[in-house]
Formats: sequence, C-alpha cells, structure tokens
Amino acid sequence: MTPSILEKYAEIVGWDVIDQLHQLVVPLKDIKVVHVNSTKKGGGVAEILNKLVPLKRELGIDASWEVIEGNQEFFKCTKSFHNALQGNRVDIPKTLLEEYERVNLENADRLRGILTDADIVFIHDPQPAPLLRSFPERKGKWIWRCHIDASHPYRPIWKYLREFIKDYDASIFSLSAFAQPLPHTEFLIAPSIDPLSEKNIDIDPAEVESIVSGLGIDLSRPIMAQISRYDFFKDPVGVVRAYRLTKKFVPDLQLVLAGGEATDDPEAQAVLDEVNIAAEGDKDIHILLLPSDAHRTINALQRASDIVLQKSTKEGFGLTVTEAMWKGKPVIGGDTGGIRIQVVNHQTGFLVSTPEGAALRARYLLFHRHLLEEMGEKARNFVRENFLLTRHLREYLTTMVSILHAKGDRIELE
Ligand code: UDP
Repeated sequence: MTPSILEKYAEIVGWDVIDQLHQLVVPLKDIKVVHVNSTKKGGGVAEILNKLVPLKRELGIDASWEVIEGNQEFFKCTKSFHNALQGNRVDIPKTLLEEYERVNLENADRLRGILTDADIVFIHDPQPAPLLRSFPERKGKWIWRCHIDASHPYRPIWKYLREFIKDYDASIFSLSAFAQPLPHTEFLIAPSIDPLSEKNIDIDPAEVESIVSGLGIDLSRPIMAQISRYDFFKDPVGVVRAYRLTKKFVPDLQLVLAGGEATDDPEAQAVLDEVNIAAEGDKDIHILLLPSDAHRTINALQRASDIVLQKSTKEGFGLTVTEAMWKGKPVIGGDTGGIRIQVVNHQTGFLVSTPEGAALRARYLLFHRHLLEEMGEKARNFVRENFLLTRHLREYLTTMVSILHAKGDRIELE
C-alpha cells in the first residue's frame, strides 16, 4: 500500500510529531478552512500552500485553497505594496488603488458561497486583504497572514492597508521583528521547507557528483557557494570578496554563485554585471544562471558545498539558509532578518556583517573540518526541530484552535 503523506513525514520527524498533529486536530475535525492568495504557482506562498492544504485534508480538516483573479493594473498595485511594506518609498496613484479595491469586490462576489460559510479563512498577503469588507455576514474567523518583511514599512502605504487589516480577527507574521501594532491577536509562525521536495530530498553522492561535475565544478577541491537571486540585498559582490580573501589561505578553493536566469529586471542584470566584473579573470568562480525548475541542481550544489554563504544585508526569512542547513551545512549568513533566527552564532553557523568577517569564518571552518561537520549536524537538527513543514502545520493547528476559542476581544491601542 502506498504510504500516506503523513506516514512519509513520520520517517523524517518521527511518529511522535505525527501523533501530536492527530491529537491537535481533534477539535478541528470537519471544520471548513479556506486559504486565499493570489497565485497558484511560483513564489514561497504557493509552494507552502501546495503542501499545507493536502496535509490538513489528510488530517480530516475540510481545507481548500482559492486564488483571487486580477488584471495587470491590480498586480502592478500589489507589487508596489510589496516593495512599500519592505521599506521602499513608493507612492501609488489613486486610480491603481481604486482598481485594487474593485478587483477585490469582483472576487468577493465570485467567492461569496465558500467564504461566507467557512469556519476559518486565511487571507495571504496584501493582494486579497480587502475581501473581508465584503463579508459582513461571514460566519467564521478571518486571519490575515503576512509573508513579507514588514519591519519598516513605508508609512503612507501601511496606513492605507492597515484600514483593511485591522478588522481581521487575528494576523500572523513570520518574525516578531515584522509584527505591526494592530488591534487584534498577532501570531508568529516562521516559514518552513519541505524535506520531501526535489530541492531537499536526500540524493545519493554519485548523483551529486554527476550533476556538479556536469557544471564544470571540481568535487575534489573545496567549494564555497551562495545560491540566491542576483539582488543587491543578497550581496553577491561581497561574496566574491569573501572568497578572494579566503583563497589566499585555501588556494584550490572554488566559488559557485547560482541564481535564476537573467530576467527583464534591469536591477538583476546590473547586479550580474557587477558580479561578472568582480569575478573577472578567475576560472575558479562559477557564475550560474539556472532555470526556475532547477530544484535538483540546487539540491546537489548545496550538498556538494563545503561552505554555504548567505551574505544578505536584508533578508525576509532566507529559505536558502534552511535548505543548506537541512543538508548538514553550517551557514555563514548576514546578521539580518530571518537569518538571525536560523543561524545560531557559533552553533549552526556564523553571523557576519562584512566580507572580511565571512572570510574569517570560512577559513576557520575549512581548517577545522571536524567543527564544520559538528556544526553541520547541529544545523540539520535545528531545522528538523524548527523549520520543517510539520512544525509549520502544528503551529497552524494551534492557531486555529486558539482563534476558534477566542472571545474576540479587541485590543485598545493608544
Ligand atoms: N532559488 C531557486 N533558483 C535560484 C535561486 C534560488 O529556485 O536560482 C530558490 C531557493 O532555493 C529558495 C528560494 O528560491 O527556495 C529563495 O528563497 P529565499 O527565502 O532564500 O529568498 P527570496 O528569493 O525569497 O528573497
């Protein structure tokens, strides 16, 4: 008989974890839960819902997932929200805001049946946030789930969005640093990785070798890698500098920078140009442009690396950090955002603020292989305990139990 999804997870996290999920779900059996976001494919939210919704169903919850439909103007507006919540000064024309609200009214009509009757509705990110206003007759509790680094939002835009968000029964943020003052209960739930996905599943060393050597990388020599979009906040030029400083002491070191294929995004191209200039003349620097479905390649690269860097200067969570740690690699990461809750300094990796700091730590690990392995083991266990899908699901279940039993008191803010 084919094992259920939860049985497969039990092999990784143990039956205790799965049994706990079965216990937690008892008061939630047969309740109707609907998740609403703005895309079925692409991006972390879709990735997570793709896993969470079937798992909830397997546990006996009547869970479903709806996607709002929008036009170009709508997505232009919501992209600006995203940038503004992450701190950019973006002023959005009134016409775009009107389109945003109109599209939400349209979607509210389309989803009226399913959302009115649901016991719990999770609204993900700003795109569908105004839906709540169209459901004065709603039966259930509504929760706004924010996946964005909203630690320092651009105030005028936050003020506008807050008018929709404040009326929810609760909200969920990824880190305490991202939470905002709101007149309802706020929950903190960190993201997670799926250990059974192509990107994270165990692959045997022969396959790792064949994939990595196929990219022209020599597995018999040390490898330092950063897997990240070409984005200024990911500081790939700082990574090249850290590599050069380390190479003075480890002459056969290679550097792999792997990111998505160059897109029309002028900023990505500008970052890539800078990286190419910084890397010029060094055959041991491999700058890779990978297609968006290169999950197994990324998996193999993370496994083949001796040192994994994520030298971001700003980072919402940093799934790449989790992915590398899950593969037993201590991560040398920028001392910022979500990296701080994953990299426990000197335990699961090192937190650094400069290329010099990164190089110092990389050199230390390369010369103390037993520590590299010890820290890597701790990193994998830390992910097993904290950042796998099953923990994520457990926190969703406890949030649901708690919200269904809440008295609904509003919090007075000064
Ligand atoms: N990723 C990918 N291809 C690339 C670079 C990154 O598939 O060329 C993946 C990476 O493995 C991770 C995600 O994209 O799963 C990036 O998430 P993260 O939270 O690290 O950063 P973001 O790009 O969301 O800022």
